Amino acid sequence: MEAILENSKRIFSRSPRPFGIAHVTLNEDGTPADASIEYCNQAMAALVNCAPEDIIGKNMFEIWSVDNTDWLDSLYRAAYKDESVEFEAVSIEYLVFQNCSVFPIVEGYCGYEVIDVTSWLATAHPAMKNVSAGMFFYDRHTKALMLSDPAKEFCSYDSNYITLDQFVEMLFDPNEAAQIKEAFETLSFENDNCIFEEQTKNGGWLRISATKPAASDKFAIGFIEDIALLHDYETRDVRRSRIIESLSTEYYALYIVNLDDDTIAPYLFRDEIVEESRVNVSPDESYSDWLNYYVEQYVVEADRLKILALLSPESLKETLAESAGDFSISCQRNFGNGERYIELRVTKISDDSDEVVIAARNINEEVKSQILQKNAIQNALVLAEHASDAKTAFLTNISHDFRTPLNSIMGFSDIALTHLDDNEKVEICLQKIMMSSEHLLGLINEVLDVSRIESGSMVLDEEPVNLRELLDEVQSVFQAQAIENGIVLNLDTSALKHIDVMGDQLRIRQILVNIIGNAIKYTPEGGSVSIAASEQAKLTKGSVMFKVVVKDTGIGMSQDFLKRIFEPFEREEVKDSVTEGTGLGMTITKNLVDLMGGTISVTSTKGKGSEFSVLLPLKLDTNEHLESVQKYDDELVAGIRFDDRIILVVDDDDLSREMVSEILKSRGATVEQASNGEEAVEAVKASDEGHFDAIIMDMRMPKMPGDVATRNIRLLPRDDTATLPIIAATADAYEEGHRRAFEAGMTVHITKPIRSKKLVATLSELI
Ligand code: ADP
Repeated sequence: MEAILENSKRIFSRSPRPFGIAHVTLNEDGTPADASIEYCNQAMAALVNCAPEDIIGKNMFEIWSVDNTDWLDSLYRAAYKDESVEFEAVSIEYLVFQNCSVFPIVEGYCGYEVIDVTSWLATAHPAMKNVSAGMFFYDRHTKALMLSDPAKEFCSYDSNYITLDQFVEMLFDPNEAAQIKEAFETLSFENDNCIFEEQTKNGGWLRISATKPAASDKFAIGFIEDIALLHDYETRDVRRSRIIESLSTEYYALYIVNLDDDTIAPYLFRDEIVEESRVNVSPDESYSDWLNYYVEQYVVEADRLKILALLSPESLKETLAESAGDFSISCQRNFGNGERYIELRVTKISDDSDEVVIAARNINEEVKSQILQKNAIQNALVLAEHASDAKTAFLTNISHDFRTPLNSIMGFSDIALTHLDDNEKVEICLQKIMMSSEHLLGLINEVLDVSRIESGSMVLDEEPVNLRELLDEVQSVFQAQAIENGIVLNLDTSALKHIDVMGDQLRIRQILVNIIGNAIKYTPEGGSVSIAASEQAKLTKGSVMFKVVVKDTGIGMSQDFLKRIFEPFEREEVKDSVTEGTGLGMTITKNLVDLMGGTISVTSTKGKGSEFSVLLPLKLDTNEHLESVQKYDDELVAGIRFDDRIILVVDDDDLSREMVSEILKSRGATVEQASNGEEAVEAVKASDEGHFDAIIMDMRMPKMPGDVATRNIRLLPRDDTATLPIIAATADAYEEGHRRAFEAGMTVHITKPIRSKKLVATLSELI
């Protein structure tokens, strides 16, 4: 054994590589206890900066501050189990990475060789200087890293050696540190590399990667790279492409412009922009040149200066700074096949360079509809202003128009009162009062008509109308006025083939009265007004187109006014002449004609005269008719008496009640009175059956209105009230009031103000 040992020592002493012999002692149970240095050559002693005699005989682990379990286990296996073992180790004390091999010599003794691989790593360092990464070795066993110089720089650390814990904690926040640490610790054959890109504590970005080579169980090789720049580029790139992407969905052309370099590059043209309309960029063309060309060639003249001024590189920089990096302008652009509105949007795509995207979008439809809207609003404004002017004029007119007849009513009443003994004078006064009242009523009805029509609540009746009778009647109404004004009034109905039609008599009369009334009103003395009724071709079986032409030789109207004649409150101003009127007649007329499905047209020459022509489609009335009972023969009415008749007059207005009572009393009737619906019901209840011959009932009354009272009277448990004639007196001349009256069971209605002739005729028909 001695000889073997001596032989080995001799061989090792000649080797330039570090060799030694270890003696391994055992515990009582045969497990390895310790190891001492039996021998080492010069090279081995040099590793720990000693001479061989200084360390021979010493405990191995006092000299090698190494992970002794690894060492001791290997030495034991060689010394007692006849095994050769190779392993890697790091010397913490000397900061060296080592490759160790251990081999048997004789029982209890083994040889060992240590190769310092740190120097190999060190030779790699100069090469590493040229790469932008720092390299490190990681010893998986001791969890320590050996850093190359560039690696040290990346982590701002000035020692070659660092434990894994220190390394991750120095660089990263706890979360990331823990992750990286775990990945390094679990590097294995299956999972032999890891890579992290993390932000460091000081805000930088590092990429750390480690790979465990298959040849080594102990070491991993890793790299540290500074990726702050890379990261910056990446985020910038992402931002840039996001901006461009979002623009490219809506914009048909995108250019990327660098304001610093004055360069431009087309980025995208969407299909919708035809080849010929694309504004390409020639090689080497600067942005400023391109802009001049673009504006000159494509932008309409009116917008050129604006675009040039706003899109020049200098003003773009300024505007972008003020507008947080994004703004747009619109202009009209020529597309070859027409001019369209476009929007040019300029968006900055990076913060640290003057790179922008200029994107173009078609906004023609948007702008057009905006323009239309604006025009519509402006027109509406003009119309509203005009309407409001017309209304103001109307209010001025109407207060004048209402006052005039009211004045004469009051004036003549005054005169009559002071001449009560002069019957003749009183009669003249009363006639004048009557006339003015009629006129006033007409005005009120007109105003009401307009509001009815405007609110859409005008409903037309359909009843038998005898056209010839109607025309005759209207003519006779105006005949007196025509004669008084020195005007010839003609009516020609000879061309009418069908006389009996169905329609709204009241409204057809109103149309005729308005037109003929105007013709007479606006025709000076010596002129003429002619009315010609005819029939246009039969429309369908059972209806005809009725035509009336009213022609006058009056003052005529200007062409300008003719455009507005049917608008409410419009009246043509005529110098030196004041004609009474509201400016509503023609509006009502036109609306009524429209409602009946007809048309109205006017031609007129100022100073010469006017011609109104109305076409009304009317159904033919095929029923046989008795002569109209509507006409009140004055003489007949004059002879009507109500002797022995008892009539209940119900009205909350004392004067109205009095007036009706007087009319009836003057014809022999006995009148009882009630001032509201409740009283009326009580009066009927208290009377004997058959006591009253008729009731004249106001509609609008406090406590109980006329329709409710009527319903209650009809429901009284007695025989006479079911058929008792109840005449509704409605101030409301329209359908709604009438409908309510009929629904409540009223027999007929007459319109307030009540005229005696009408009242007498109606009542006499009923009783
Ligand atoms: P008014 O109550 O003012 O007569 P209308 O609506 O009936 O209102 O008529 C409107 C305006 O049309 C009148 O003020 C008048 O200027 C003009 N006009 C209507 N008919 C004639 C006509 N036959 N001749 C001349 N002007 C007419």
